[in-house]
Amino acid sequence: MNSLDTTKAYAQKLDQEDILKSFRNDFYLPKETIYFDGNSLGLMSKQAESTLHTLLDSWKTYGIDGWTEGEHPWFYLSEKLGEMTAPLVGAHKNEVIITGSTTTNLHQLVATFFKPEGNRNKILADELNFPSDIYALQSQLKLKGLDPKEHLIRVKSKDHNTLATEDIIAAMTDDIALIVLPSVLYRSGQILDMKTLTTEAHRRGIIIGFDLCHSVGAIPHELAEWGVDFAFWCTYKHLNGGPGSVGGLYVHQKHFGHAPGLAGWFSSKKDKQFDMEHTLTHADTAGAYQIGTPHVLSAAPLLGSLEIFQQAGIHAIRQKSLQLTSYFLELLKTELGDYDFVIANPLDEEIRGAHVFLEHPDAARICKALKAEKIIPDFRSPNGIRIAPVALYNTFEEVWNVIQILKKIMEEKRYEKFENVRGVIA
Ligand SMILES: *Cc1c(COP(=O)(O)O)cnc(C)c1O
Repeated sequence: MNSLDTTKAYAQKLDQEDILKSFRNDFYLPKETIYFDGNSLGLMSKQAESTLHTLLDSWKTYGIDGWTEGEHPWFYLSEKLGEMTAPLVGAHKNEVIITGSTTTNLHQLVATFFKPEGNRNKILADELNFPSDIYALQSQLKLKGLDPKEHLIRVKSKDHNTLATEDIIAAMTDDIALIVLPSVLYRSGQILDMKTLTTEAHRRGIIIGFDLCHSVGAIPHELAEWGVDFAFWCTYKHLNGGPGSVGGLYVHQKHFGHAPGLAGWFSSKKDKQFDMEHTLTHADTAGAYQIGTPHVLSAAPLLGSLEIFQQAGIHAIRQKSLQLTSYFLELLKTELGDYDFVIANPLDEEIRGAHVFLEHPDAARICKALKAEKIIPDFRSPNGIRIAPVALYNTFEEVWNVIQILKKIMEEKRYEKFENVRGVIA
């Protein structure tokens, strides 16, 4: 067995060899800080800043005419951003639109695709998903007069951190009309087998959609090829669109005839929208699932940010991301084997997302001790630490440094200075 080279020089060598290293210069990195939280809020790039200014200028310069004038006319912005995002999710250009937020897009897609009929009147989700998704599903059921206690089925996890494909498939019973699952679990970072789950759902006549919040911009997808019915995501995590940036959704083109469950004038065919008729002629693209006026200034940074993804390529990003998380885990095992950390993310690279998830009884105060050293992880109640070294702007040397500092914190019990409870945000 090769033993890991634990020297700083080795980390620096990995940085030298990194084909993505120049992208770090495109980002504003918080001063003297190691930022390992890009899976919660990605950092700002110069490109994102610049396109935000460009769209502010078009408001300044054109007023109302900014809808059709300027470098990026606002009327077509959501479609343009959809086209730019399509390669990241493996979709055709017109299957993706940038609109809404994760949660409102989920509401839209469930309102559109959940058609309870006879005994087929339940939604299948999982017990590990992010609360907002579950709240949305519960409220959509209530809107249809169905009791979420009976009609929302949540696949159980055997180990509190991961889901077994066979358990999900076993839950695809005759009474399930719709399935909504995450692509990557937000705590453990497990990647679900979207291809197999889609095939199995379709064999049983069930519509299936995925929440890509933790996978878009981090791992490649082939949504169209896999036949996934719909997907939705936020753009402020790995896509670096900025706080509250506009979300995204995908609808497979075979569903383009489906009228939006939640309609508005931006659901219109673009050339019909200003006819102002009281009968909606909805777009025959994913654009049909927009509702109202796009949040132009909250979408603007994405124009610049997505250019970076076009240049770097999602496969190179994925490769470096795996290298970073593997390196972190190897160093952790070698240097911090004695301190009760449990590695709770999958070790298998095939199913490991873009962050590391550690469990520790003192997780809350270890996070506070890391923050006191200007290292930004995030804490997930009750005992989890998420660490996300991001391929576009983090380095191997930063990983090495974090391990050294974490080792000091543990050896010297520096975390004991802090209370073991979470702050308001994390
Ligand atoms: C980040 C995240 C959300 C957030 O939803 P918003 O509507 O963007 O606030 C929802 N679901 C998952 C799985 C997430 O990771």
